[in-house]
Amino acid sequence: MKQFNIFDMHCDTLSDIHRLGKEDLATASGHINLEKLWKGGSLVQCFAAFIPTHEGAVRRGITEGPYEYFLHCADTFDRQMEKFSDQIRPVRTVAEIEKNRDAGLLSAMLTIEDAVPVEGRIERVKEFYDRGVRMMSLTWNYENSIGYPNSRDPEAHMLPLKPFGLEVIAEMERLGMAVDVSHLSEGGFWDVANHGSKPFIASHSCARALSDHPRNLTDDQLRAVAKRGGVVGVNFCKPFLRLDATVSTVEDIVRHARYIANVAGIETVAMGSDFDGISGPLEYEDFSGFPMIVDGLSRVFSDDDVDRICHGNALRAFRDIFGE
Ligand SMILES: [Zn+2]
Repeated sequence: MKQFNIFDMHCDTLSDIHRLGKEDLATASGHINLEKLWKGGSLVQCFAAFIPTHEGAVRRGITEGPYEYFLHCADTFDRQMEKFSDQIRPVRTVAEIEKNRDAGLLSAMLTIEDAVPVEGRIERVKEFYDRGVRMMSLTWNYENSIGYPNSRDPEAHMLPLKPFGLEVIAEMERLGMAVDVSHLSEGGFWDVANHGSKPFIASHSCARALSDHPRNLTDDQLRAVAKRGGVVGVNFCKPFLRLDATVSTVEDIVRHARYIANVAGIETVAMGSDFDGISGPLEYEDFSGFPMIVDGLSRVFSDDDVDRICHGNALRAFRDIFGE
């Protein structure tokens, strides 16, 4: 098994550690912990600060606002990075990823899922960047100051970004923070595709032609990501892989990787597991089962292409976004 092979663009592990407060990166009992990252061959793990709002905040008993919640979640990330600095280090550049790899260390990238804590204040984007955030999804599944989420209602799905959303993507590009279109409405997606110039990313989404879910991307959307040099991280969530799936399988993950490669080019395919945000059963169990997925990819792709899918494409896209 190759070490330092996987650049996984999305997981919800940080949110669990932050919210539950009982576990740390070593003892976390979900899909990802340090031992599982080592076993699975992690190169970079993106740790999303997912910001619960609406019913999600009520259900979790969260009383602070999205901005305060993000700051506290980022504090949790920093504490975890300090506590386990002998194994994993936070990264803000691709050069730091390479440095960690060469030193035999794992890399962790802080991201935001749902830009709701921006709350209409453009200066917050820089504040989050300075705090270490290197990718931010413009929405989750609710409207915020930037735009609207994906929807089964075709009219709602075509809602565009708000004028402030256009300012936000310009500021993210200027700073070198990846614009993540996963969860966004298709109308918002096209605003990102038509207004920016750097690569943009769908951190955890699949191909809609294979599973007709509004969280997935149409062929035209896949090609639009490719045109700008971005990447799409295949999500391991059962209904995104196949609407009637009862198990998340290696075969379905490979099927989406092949499809995206065929439609948008091999250089567009990446990994976005959504570990700790998805429910099982998972054929490969958790992050430690990543070698099974690598094997599955190896059956249909060359070794070079497997490396591209597992980390090379994401590294290239982030390098371009960071301006390195
Ligand atoms: Zn998500």
